[in-house]
Amino acid sequence: MSYDAIVIGAGPAGCSAALALAGMGRRVAIVEQSRFPRKKVCGEYMSAVNLDLLDRLGAGASVRARAGPSVRRVALFASGPAVEAGMPRAPGDAFGCALGRDVLDSVLLQAATDAGAAVFQPWRAVDVCAGGAAAAVRIESAGESRVLTADAVIAAHGSWARGPLASQLERKNRRQDFFGFKAHFRGASLARDLMPLLVFPGGYGGMVWADQGRLSLSCCLRRDALARVRDLYRAPAAQAVFAHIRASCPAARIALGGAALDGAWLAAGPIRPGVRACYAADIFRVGNIAGECHPIIAEGIAMALQSGWLLACALARHDVWDARSRAAAGRDYSEAWRRQFSTRIAAGAVLARLAILPQTAGAMQAVVRALPSSLSFGARLSGKTRAVPECR
Ligand SMILES: Cc1cc2nc3c(=O)[nH]c(=O)nc-3n(C[C@H](O)[C@H](O)[C@H](O)COP(=O)(O)OP(=O)(O)OC[C@H]3O[C@@H](n4cnc5c(N)ncnc54)[C@H](O)[C@@H]3O)c2cc1C
Repeated sequence: MSYDAIVIGAGPAGCSAALALAGMGRRVAIVEQSRFPRKKVCGEYMSAVNLDLLDRLGAGASVRARAGPSVRRVALFASGPAVEAGMPRAPGDAFGCALGRDVLDSVLLQAATDAGAAVFQPWRAVDVCAGGAAAAVRIESAGESRVLTADAVIAAHGSWARGPLASQLERKNRRQDFFGFKAHFRGASLARDLMPLLVFPGGYGGMVWADQGRLSLSCCLRRDALARVRDLYRAPAAQAVFAHIRASCPAARIALGGAALDGAWLAAGPIRPGVRACYAADIFRVGNIAGECHPIIAEGIAMALQSGWLLACALARHDVWDARSRAAAGRDYSEAWRRQFSTRIAAGAVLARLAILPQTAGAMQAVVRALPSSLSFGARLSGKTRAVPECR
């Protein structure tokens, strides 16, 4: 089976690339190892500019119809009283919203299928041989093995899972690693249009109303802080983290007071914030595997959707995807990626560093209390209003 492009992974990055390329008339295959719907460690917030991008990709109406309420205000929930400010308006569809990843990823994959992409699910990519005239991707499912060939291979498999592919990251444990946790709740009393940033010793998190009356609570905790809270609460990791949040953030404790857990806690990590290659070993990379921001700025889905689009735009400049045009597209895409995302990655890293230490978190709280509009400024700096370029 031969395609113009094989996309490995059907998260927002893979679906966006597949949707854009299929919409341009290219033959696309998507390989996804999990069965959908599946839940994912993610806060599930999407800024407004991404809804406009989803319109271009033909999935905007389905996403809007299912998403939670518009997020019009941001807040800081730390050790002191809550501070609130307005969410900056983006051009076009002014405010963002949240949609459970079990729903979002299924909707996007269905849209890619409708646009003509061939879907291999649940199939896992286990080997990529790229760099020649055509690339070969070996995929496996339930003891069966197949080889797909294509001009271009797009790695969209995220950055948290380990595996045998050249584009996957090595396992390295570091003291400063962060682990992610997420759960849905029902019956919380958080205002429907508010998205607070939670700051607590050793970590940070966020809450937002998603679809179907579910409140999404997600957070990250540094490895050493996680060990401390597990020791303190003598509980499994997620329960200890939840107890730590309630003990550290009074406004979060109040908002979650009467709430009931909906489903199980999920955990992931260590997460891998940072900038990586967008194109290497003749494999294009989109989403988390190209670069990842600290979830404190809730921009990972945005970067996934937008990087898939930017890559498709770079490839669309070439009729034939031979080695020369792939290298040229790789250069164009890498530049576009840096222009679009470098500032928010740096902003996320600085904010995360400030948030996790009690001294700097205290100073951050004092600044935000004196100047609540700094919250709106932070949201703008994190790219929430930055328009997605058109294909040229
Ligand atoms: C605690 C936390 C909170 C967050 N909150 C937010 C938020 O509110 N807003 C936001 O925008 N971002 C948030 N993020 C970030 C966001 O979740 C990620 O950036 C986003 O999921 C990246 O999308 P992706 O498509 O690159 O990868 P993923 O979503 O990880 O998708 C990768 C897909 O590839 C598949 N796959 C992997 N390996 C293979 C293989 N070998 N073969 C086939 N398939 C494979 C996986 O099954 C998966 O479906 C948060 C992250 C964390 C940790």
